[in-house]
Parts: sequence; structure tokens; C-alpha cells
Amino acid sequence: RKADIECRLVVLGSGPGGYTAAFRAADLGLDTVLVERYATLGGVCLNVGCIPSKALLHAAALIEEAAHSADIGIAFDKPKLDLDKLRDFKQNKVVGQFTKGLSGMAKQRKVRTVQGVGRFVSPNELEIVGDDGKTQLLRFEQCIIAAGSQAVKLPNFPWDDPRIMDSTDALELQDIPAKLLVVGGGIIGLEMATVYKGLGSEVTVVEFMDQLMPGADKDLVKPLADRLKKQGVAVHLKTKAAKVEASKKGIAVSFEAAEDGGTPGIESGTWDRVLVAVGRAPNGNKIDADKAGVQVTDRGFIPVDRQMRTNVPHIFAIGDLVGQPMLAHKATHEGKLAAEVAAGEKREWVARVVPSVAYTDPEIAWVGVTETEAKAKGLHVGVGKFPWAASARAVGIGRGEGFTKLIFDEKTHRIVGGGIVGVHAGDLISELALAIEMGAEAGDIGATIHPHPTLSESIGMAAEVYEGTITDLY
Ligand code: FAD
Repeated sequence: RKADIECRLVVLGSGPGGYTAAFRAADLGLDTVLVERYATLGGVCLNVGCIPSKALLHAAALIEEAAHSADIGIAFDKPKLDLDKLRDFKQNKVVGQFTKGLSGMAKQRKVRTVQGVGRFVSPNELEIVGDDGKTQLLRFEQCIIAAGSQAVKLPNFPWDDPRIMDSTDALELQDIPAKLLVVGGGIIGLEMATVYKGLGSEVTVVEFMDQLMPGADKDLVKPLADRLKKQGVAVHLKTKAAKVEASKKGIAVSFEAAEDGGTPGIESGTWDRVLVAVGRAPNGNKIDADKAGVQVTDRGFIPVDRQMRTNVPHIFAIGDLVGQPMLAHKATHEGKLAAEVAAGEKREWVARVVPSVAYTDPEIAWVGVTETEAKAKGLHVGVGKFPWAASARAVGIGRGEGFTKLIFDEKTHRIVGGGIVGVHAGDLISELALAIEMGAEAGDIGATIHPHPTLSESIGMAAEVYEGTITDLY
């Protein structure tokens, strides 16, 4: 059969991993095609993930800030919400600007984009079915699979009812439900809980594990848990949603304790909407990878080597579908690497750490080894902690509840991890990532002059606390 499209490199999926790979490959001179099932480029992150959620979190933060400003003598009236305008801001002013930008960048580089769902039919061919029903055969020399992930849909929920939402539905902001139940207290669940609480919903969160945001150290999560409590967000740990039924009156949910024989701390009730945010599943088993001979695990992940190659040497895979952490900045890094290797460069994965950030209020960010992990692995580490209550800047903006902690190897005093909780923690964590990548020691970090008065000072101070060069927090 004659191919409709021929190319040197095809990238399947246009999320942050896919578009970065395609653009880098084109910049390196490869004739590149980018296949995407949706009409806009950008994948989950730009269309229904990182970016729209941050735009809505900004709106929630404004409301929250205004509500607290009376404490410092500035009182505003109750906020008036224009939902259409807010949706327009998120969708057109923010997301739209960047999806248009990506199309422009693809054109500029002569990356051909093809709309449609792609599936392998052989090790060198993809069949692409467009929204118009048209099928095209694409023949490639090399391929980068960047088909991402999608929200896990718990089977015991009546998904045909629009009041049961995944994160994509929640970001649409159809309305502001009077009562919202969030199932799953991880990053995505808590970010959306923050949005809806800010916009006026009464929010309840249930989490199966014994802490919010499993994966982060418990102490980092506490200031967030405390603030949520103060705001009236009900949080129930070690709890799972058991029976879920839709009726005219709402979504009736009953609960079970996570441990056998336990009693849940929350009684069954009825909610106007329910957001299910219990994790994401990779799309590896939806692309007929077997027809190309590419191995996929039972869970749908595609194993790769340090050059992002699958078991089939001319086929690479990147982003959410190659494994945790499922984060955009990991996907872009991998995308660039795969494109460079495909173009013949001798490169491999060298990053030591991938930072994680929850853009909640306060933000929580962590990188490298956590204290919990260090304990479990029997690593000899020490901690330098700087409470933001001792930062005049943090107190001056009314946010002294945060802290910065650095984790060091006790023998070498090299930084191996760290976490920050507080406003802008997500921006501050980069310094720790850089310090880990550069093999910095506590003395280096403490001796680096940080500008005063900034939140970033807390990083230098935490290192000095560890070294014992400051003992009194002034
Ligand atoms: P994706 O972004 O998932 O893109 C894959 C693309 O492939 C999609 O466009 C899909 O339509 C397309 N595709 C799939 N199969 C096919 C096929 N067969 N044919 C054609 N096209 C196909 N990460 C962060 O780092 N920071 C954040 O703040 C953050 N916030 C998030 C908030 C939410 C609500 C969600 C859901 C996720 C968030 N993430 C965040 C995670 C982030 O979105 C993902 O890690 C990132 O998008 C992964 O990029 P990717 O390139 O692997 O795949």
C-alpha cells in the first residue's frame, strides 16, 4: 500500500513531550510530522492540565487574598463572580494564546501537523484516522511515542452523569456547585479543591492514604492541611468512596475506612458534584504498539533506556507514558533528549532529580530524596530547616506559616533533597534542584549571597542552620 505521508520522524502526541521533541528534531534538520488527535496542540498540560488549572488558581488566590486583607486594614466588598469572563480568561486569553503560539512555531519550523488518532500497523507505519473519518497511512523512519496519559476512572462511579467529573470536566467550570466532593487528596485533587473553595463551593476531600499528597513529607503537608481546615475544607484521610449513586437531588456517596474493619470519619451524604482525582493511567496500550513490536507493561507504560529508546531501536517513547513522575517538565526534558538521539547525537539522560510542585495555597514543592524515603532506605542524612516565621518578608506578606528544609548527606554535607512549603514554593524549589545537580554542599549554599528580604533567603538560612553557622533565627 502506498503511504499518504512519508517522513523521517513522526511524533505521536503533541503534549509538552511531543511538541518539544518535534520542534527540536526539526531544528536539527529532521523532516518531522506531529500527529495529534485533538484540534489544538499542547496536550493535557496546555489544554486541560497545568496551564488552565494555574489560571483558575490565580482567580481563587485573588479572592482569598482579598478576603484576608481586612486583617491588615483593607476591606473589600464580597467578590462578584462573572463565570463567563473567568472561563474566557482561562480558555481564550491564556490557553488559546499558547495553542496558537504552538501552531505558529510548528509552521515556522515546517513541522507538518496531522489531526487524527494514530495507531501502529507495522514497525514503520502508523494509520491515522481523522475527525472527518479520513484514514491516512504514514510511513516513518523513526518515531517518538508521546501519547501521554489520562485520568483513572474509578469503576464504581456513574460516569454517564455529568455531575461526576474528572479533572478535565472540573476545569470546564460548568458551574460553582454548592457542595463539591473531591475523591483523591493528591496534587490535582487539592489544586481543584483550592479553586472551587476559592470560588465559593463547600468542599469535602477524601483520601485513601494516611496523609494528603502522598509522596511529600508529612511535615511539608501540615501547613496546607492547617490552612484548608481554617478555610473550612473538610478533609478525611484513610477513607474511600464506596457506593456512589446519582439521583435528581444530587450524587449520594457512602464511605468505607481504608483499613478493614475501621469506621470512616465521614457519614454518607449527597453532593452537587463529585470530582474524581485518583491518579492518571498511561496511554501505552491504546496505540497498537504490538504491531510495531514495542513492549508495553500491563499497566500501559512503555519501558525505555537512558536514551528514551524502546526495545525497538528506531522507536522512542517519552513523557507520562514512560513512567513516574508524570510531570510536564520531565516530558519536555525527555522530548528534547529523544529528538537529539534520533538525530544522531550521543546523549543520554543525566538529570539527577525532577522537582514536584503542588500549586495549592500554600504551595508545596519538593525535590530529590525526601526524609521519609531517606529513613526507609537507611540513608544517613541530616536536615537544615528554616521556619518562615523568622523571615520578615514572609511575615510582611502575612504568610509566615511556611518553611524551607534542606536534606544533606551527613558524611559529605552534599545536598540530596529538600522541600519548601509556602507561597511561591514552586518558584523557589529550582534553586534546590540546581544545587543538587551541581553537587553543592551546605557550605556552598550558605555562603551564596541571597537578596534580602526575599523568600529565597530561607534556602541559604536553612543551609546555615544545618552547618551551625546560625543558631539563633533573627
Ligand atoms: P500529554 O500532555 O498527555 O499529551 C499527549 C497527547 O497525545 C495528547 O494531546 C493526546 O491527545 C495525544 N494522543 C494520545 N494518543 C494519541 C493517538 N493515538 N493519536 C494521536 N494523538 C494521541 N504537570 C506539571 O508539570 N505541572 C503542573 O502544574 C501540572 N498540572 C496538571 C494539572 C492537571 C489537571 C493535570 C491533569 C495534569 C497536570 N500535570 C502537571 C501533568 C502534565 O499535564 C503531564 O505530565 C504532561 O501533560 C505530560 O506530557 P506528555 O507529553 O507526556 O503527554
